Amino acid sequence: MRHRFATSINRVTIKVGSSILLKEDHGPDLTFIEELVRDISVLSERDMEVVLVSSGAIGMGKRELGTGKNFDAIPSKQALASVGQIHLMNLYCQFFQQYHISVGQVLLSAADLSSRSSYLNARNTLLTLLRLKIIPVVNENDTVAVEEIKFGDNDTLSALVAGLVDADLLVILSDIKGLYSEDPRRNPKAKLIRKVSCISEEMEETAQSTSVEGRIGGMQTKIKAAKIATRSGIPVIIGGKDRDFLPQLFAGKEVGTLFLPQQNRLTSRKKWIAYGHFLKGKIVLDKGAKRALLQERRSLLPSGVIEVKGKFDAGDSVSLLDEDNREFARGITYYSSKELKKIKGIKSHLIKPQLGYKYYDEVIHRDNLVIL
Ligand code: GLU
Repeated sequence: MRHRFATSINRVTIKVGSSILLKEDHGPDLTFIEELVRDISVLSERDMEVVLVSSGAIGMGKRELGTGKNFDAIPSKQALASVGQIHLMNLYCQFFQQYHISVGQVLLSAADLSSRSSYLNARNTLLTLLRLKIIPVVNENDTVAVEEIKFGDNDTLSALVAGLVDADLLVILSDIKGLYSEDPRRNPKAKLIRKVSCISEEMEETAQSTSVEGRIGGMQTKIKAAKIATRSGIPVIIGGKDRDFLPQLFAGKEVGTLFLPQQNRLTSRKKWIAYGHFLKGKIVLDKGAKRALLQERRSLLPSGVIEVKGKFDAGDSVSLLDEDNREFARGITYYSSKELKKIKGIKSHLIKPQLGYKYYDEVIHRDNLVIL
């Protein structure tokens, strides 16, 4: 199965974390980076398109500016990232040059993916780089990313980038070999799970306990990333720092943990609705409306709305919750929160008498809706 799977990949997003790129003293692990670049260049020679999402900027900045100093404040970390990112790219440039491959730096913040036009621009740039046989090296734009506009971790960023470029596979490499039945650091008998068909709540809980405190990007963020990608229809492999991991993976060997896609690929527009957008509010729906959306693939009408939370405008992205407050869909609303509060629960023909005007019968049209 892995063989058929591995040979069907044309475009892959590979994410490498700081934990494997850097050594304990924050210096780059040159052997690892050299091998990574060699493996990617082999894939590229086989005409596979590779987008590399690489962490390591803050860590490398720390080494450059002195590990003994206190860089805990956000602006200090941003300064570190600005220094370290150059060193990181410099390394990739030098190593890829040996294979006559050029690299392009792409720094993104969540805000860049929240507007449809910048989302499309980022996508166009990445696809153009791939067409030119250049390896895009993506990182979070740490120097501008403060809390509200942050992906927060490069695992999430890599899942969004995989969606952005319509990758056939997302590979997340870290210092953990894959998903284990239990925390392998606490129980050496913990088993590596080879295949995950559906991410269960139990798995998420185990991942939470596996996360190393204070570290960005433990197993928890990897599972979250796997959830985003598989829900967009992209399979995910979580793997470790083993030698020849990528050659083995693409030779069809059963390495790491494979997360199967949850559905057919979402279109680019739907991916943007589901994950590229800031959610401005929440709409709680009754059981009938939830059923109509999930089973009958209908649009959302005002009659199914029970409650409106947060402040949003028409055209904003909102989260749809069921009566137990569980999010099950996201969409772009035709009505603002203020308008929706006035028309919730009523039949569509009463929208005009109630508001004095009507845009549409639906609150969210089916085409602007993504079931999670
Ligand atoms: N963007 C950060 C860096 O390059 C890393 C974030 C992460 O590791 O998830 O240093």
